[in-house]
Amino acid sequence: MGADELEEGQIEARHSPRLPKSGLCQVLSMFRKVFIIIHLRRFFVKRLGISVASASPIVAGDARAPTDLKGLLPEQLRALAIELGGPAYRGDQLFRWIHEQGVCDFEAMSNLPKAFRAALREAGAIVGNLRLLERRDSATGMAAKFLFEATAGQIESVLIVDGDRRTACLSSQVGCALDCKFCATGRMGFRRNLGAGEIVDQLLQLHAAATQRGERVTNVVMMGMGEPLLNYNEVTRALRIIRHADGPTIGGRRITVSTAGYLPGIRQLAADDLNVGLAISLNATTDEVRERLMPINRKWPIAELLTAAREYFDKKGRRVTFEYVLMDGVTDSDEDAHRLAELTREIPSKINIIPYNELGDEGQATGMTFRRPPRRRIDEFLRRLRDNTDHTVTLRESRGGDIGAACGQLYRQQETGRQPATATA
Ligand code: SAH
Repeated sequence: MGADELEEGQIEARHSPRLPKSGLCQVLSMFRKVFIIIHLRRFFVKRLGISVASASPIVAGDARAPTDLKGLLPEQLRALAIELGGPAYRGDQLFRWIHEQGVCDFEAMSNLPKAFRAALREAGAIVGNLRLLERRDSATGMAAKFLFEATAGQIESVLIVDGDRRTACLSSQVGCALDCKFCATGRMGFRRNLGAGEIVDQLLQLHAAATQRGERVTNVVMMGMGEPLLNYNEVTRALRIIRHADGPTIGGRRITVSTAGYLPGIRQLAADDLNVGLAISLNATTDEVRERLMPINRKWPIAELLTAAREYFDKKGRRVTFEYVLMDGVTDSDEDAHRLAELTREIPSKINIIPYNELGDEGQATGMTFRRPPRRRIDEFLRRLRDNTDHTVTLRESRGGDIGAACGQLYRQQETGRQPATATA
């Protein structure tokens, strides 16, 4: 008889009386459930350092809100296993089932004792809570957009094909608080932060889709809905899971976090042992224009942002990527090209030029009248920039425009029940 069976017996004794219950028994059983739930909630918050809202993405404040195991690191699952009366290695087994095997159903986790699975269920544990509502493939086969139902809203992720790369573009929040004037997600306003489990879940579901085609996701960019650095703890925990050797194993070299310029977050990421790439959405070359486009610039203007970028390089030894969206008559002048080269001269970096993705009817309706510059202007801007900088300059051609999956097009109009802008783009 192995330790497992002994374990099983012990847990069984505590958790599985299947006898007909008297009224008193039922009351006692109810008390016991409430006790376990309250105890575990305290455990999640205190010992695992997970806020109730994120550990329990369903409804903060609901004592029966489930905890999503997809968002827990192996050491956290080990601690949970011990808390439930099992040996620590049950946590590692859970991690591998979820992340290596892609199994979400406790019943299918055949090497876990029955009683341990029951204890997990009783504790309100779940494995993933994102429901795939719709998948849309671009005509070119170069991008696929996934729409998920999350609590309090819908989110989108995009799988992008680029040579040998399969990049998963993930969302970090439902909506966004930063109100960038050109960005569709900004129109939604902020709804809530995603939990680490929901961020990992996006990747696992995209990964499963890639696997069906005999491929695998090779890169991750936090460039979907939301500002990742305003959801720091959940995003970084998700990335630790994503790069874990027993998990999806996408290394830090292949992960990029993109920010609109939330400086405290950039500094925190620079100090963190999580070694991931940083992209900064610069999008303008003067504070005057940037302030108009991105209100966050009032708090942290361009000069401060550039200093933080330099610090990031000094600490991590990784070149920062500057993203620059070209908007007709707004950010695409010859002077802009020269200033962009000048501003970034001293910072080891790459520059990624993104021609603006127009938002179709929805853009009109919401007064977002920005335009993509004509091809000649884009080429001229690139030429001038390249002539004046030693940095690598790339042009990001939209891959998912026909399915509304291009940068900045992720948007859900939820309360009204209207079709999203992206459906008509
Ligand atoms: N909040 C983060 C990540 C989400 S936005 C950030 O700001 O970086 C991801 C990228 O899409 C940013 O570089 C943003 O400037 C760009 N973007 C937003 N709307 C766009 C649009 N309509 N066309 C092209 N790029 C857009």
